[in-house]
Order: sequence, then structure tokens, then C-alpha cells
Amino acid sequence: MKLHEYISKRVFAKYGVTIPKGEVATTPSEAKKIAEKLGGRVVVKSQVLVGGRGKAGGIHLAESPAEATEHAFNILGMEIKGLPVRKVLIDEAADIKSEIYLGITNDRAARKPVMMASAAGGIDIEEVAHKTPEKIIKVHIDPLMGLQNYQARDLAAKIDLPRELWRGFGKTACGLWKAYVESDATLAEINPLVITAENRLLAVDGKMVLDDNALFRHPDLAEMRDLDLEAEAEIEAREHGLSYIKLDGNIGCMVNGAGLAMTTMDIIKLFGGSPANFLDIGGGANAEKVAVALRIILSDPSVKAVLFNIFGGITRCDLVAQGILDALEEVETDVPMVVRLVGTNAKEGRQLLANADMETAETLADAAQKAVAAA
Ligand code: GDP
Ligand code: MN
Repeated sequence: MKLHEYISKRVFAKYGVTIPKGEVATTPSEAKKIAEKLGGRVVVKSQVLVGGRGKAGGIHLAESPAEATEHAFNILGMEIKGLPVRKVLIDEAADIKSEIYLGITNDRAARKPVMMASAAGGIDIEEVAHKTPEKIIKVHIDPLMGLQNYQARDLAAKIDLPRELWRGFGKTACGLWKAYVESDATLAEINPLVITAENRLLAVDGKMVLDDNALFRHPDLAEMRDLDLEAEAEIEAREHGLSYIKLDGNIGCMVNGAGLAMTTMDIIKLFGGSPANFLDIGGGANAEKVAVALRIILSDPSVKAVLFNIFGGITRCDLVAQGILDALEEVETDVPMVVRLVGTNAKEGRQLLANADMETAETLADAAQKAVAAA
């Protein structure tokens, strides 16, 4: 789950990172009040869950509350990379001398978190990483020991940070590390961390991605999920405990088990087709779950055929078959379907489906070929 800039920065601030004073507005008049309260120059920042807002025109400096109101009005009407802007952050403007990058993510290959810093921070960090990777300094963090002071100092030295800022940098780096660990994040990033005209460090931008599997430990953050910005089908799937990811093919897949779902997608491709989604209905799938899953699959207009691939272990194939039939009572559709059931009560399940004139298959290869032909 991605967190908005303003939420990420508040989390960082809890751990001792210095952030600008600011508040969120959803209307131009709210923006005006906040700008008045902050007095003087502010920056008006679109809150959308994509990077590159600055380049897209979603961030503007304002010299007065009147100007802030105007920017808020314009930005609140924008779409950035397809996402509507519904909130703006009004922050006290910083006088920026230079921009640093500071971030933490998991390095899977090293099996450790890695902290990265660069003196070339700001809006083009991806380009820096691509063209001059040596400008990004990395240090791996032992997950049990945590970030050590000497490691933060080492980073500060290697990015040529002026000596008098090392202490502040250490505080920021340790704060970011604590925020990362204690929020179960997979990414925590400050870009830019700026050196201000007064020679202080200030986190001007913030980004966090949390591990969805750990969200139950952070109910306060979980409830900030921005539903506006997620596909409706994915929200419904999550609410029913289904893992659903939309893809761009035309064969809808309903499968129990993630590994089996991957296999199903592969075999569809092997026979020249293309899956419209990944969908794992999990174990113990009952009729209701099957109906929800089917509705989700069919809500995608590009689906031209549906392939059910169910392995009955704990799940009983006859219950799944009944679920499919029940679901079809509710969901009006003429999309062709192929069902492959194997395992517990498969025979009973196939019989139920045959009675209802549904196409069944015994092997996965057979099922996939039929689905590809139907699509
Ligand atoms: P992003 O483009 O989505 O990464 O948004 P950022 O929050 O990083 O802002 C982009 C750029 O806008 C920064 O790199 C800064 O150069 C500039 N910027 C952001 N806030 C301020 C501010 O308070 N003062 C000034 N002068 N520039 C700012
Ligand atoms: Mn940024």
C-alpha cells in the first residue's frame, strides 16, 4: 500500500525527521486559510500516488495566499498520469540550496535492507541511477543491529555533505530507518532531502510503501488507504479475501492457489492465448466466494472466455461446481466457460456441470486449449 506524501512525512516526523509545516486542503478556500496561517510563501502540492508530480505541473510555489488559492484551484482540477487530484498539501516553502536523495528498500539479493543516498537528489533521481549509478551510495543494514551511526556518517562523507550537517543527517537517517522498520515498510524515501538557505536539513518530499501482509499491525495507517486510486474490482476482491490482479489478455482465470494460478496463466500462453487476470480464490472456496470471483472476472469487458482450474484438496469440487452454477444464476453472461475440476469430489462436480450443459475438461492442457479456442 502506497502512502500519500503528507502521510509519509507525518510518519517520518514522528521519528525525528524535520519536515516543513503544512496541512492538507481539498478546496481552494481551505488552501487559502492554510496559506494565511503559514504566512508568506508556500508550496502547493498535488497529493497523488505517482512520482514526477513536479514535472507534470502538480507542484507550484506561491508568493501569497491569493496565489496559493489560484494554484490550488488549478491543481485540484488536474489529472496526473490518469489519477484525479483530490487533495493538495500546502507546505511552508523552503529556500533550497541543494537537493539530496535518501531512501531505504529491501535488497532481496543481499537479503537485507539497503539505505541509499545521493548528492544528486531531486526530480531526476531515476536518470541518475541509470546513467551515473556511482553517484548513488549504498549501505546494507543488518536487520537485527539496525542502522549504525558510523554507517550514516559514512554515507554523509561519501555524498560530500558539509561536516556541520552530519549530525542532522544521522538523525534523519536513523529516523527514516525506524519509520521503515516500525511501519513494516518496503520503501521509505525522502527525495529531496534539502539543504536550506539557513543550512539545515529538511524533508521536502516523502514516500512510503507498506507491506500489505503486515497492514493488520498498523490499523491507523491501513485506514488511510486511498480507495479512489484503486481499481474497483481489486477493492472488491480484497474485501472478499481473493487475490486479483488484472492483466491485459482476454481469458479470465479462476483458480484456487497462487502456484496453480501461475501455471494456468503459463499454459494458456503455451497454447497461444493470453490471460486476462490472475485470480486466486484460495482454499475452502465456497459458492459465495466463487460467485464474487466470477462477477469480478466478468466485470472486465475484455474477457472473452473463462477458464476455471480447481484442484480439490480441502476444497470440494462439487461445492465449487455448485458455486459456479449459483453464480451464473445471478450473473447474466454469454461468455463461454471451460471448467476443469480435479481432486476431492471431482466426479460429482463434473456431473453437476454436465447436467447444466457446461463445458468441462479433465486435463489442464485440454482445458487451456478449449479456453483459447473459445476466446
Ligand atoms: P515529485 O516531483 O512528485 O517528486 O515532488 P517533490 O515534492 O519532490 O517536488 C518536486 C520538486 O519541487 C523538488 O525537487 C523541488 O525542487 C521543488 N520543491 C518542492 N517543494 C519546494 C519548496 O518548498 N521550495 C522550493 N523552492 N522548491 C520546492
Ligand atoms: Mn520527489
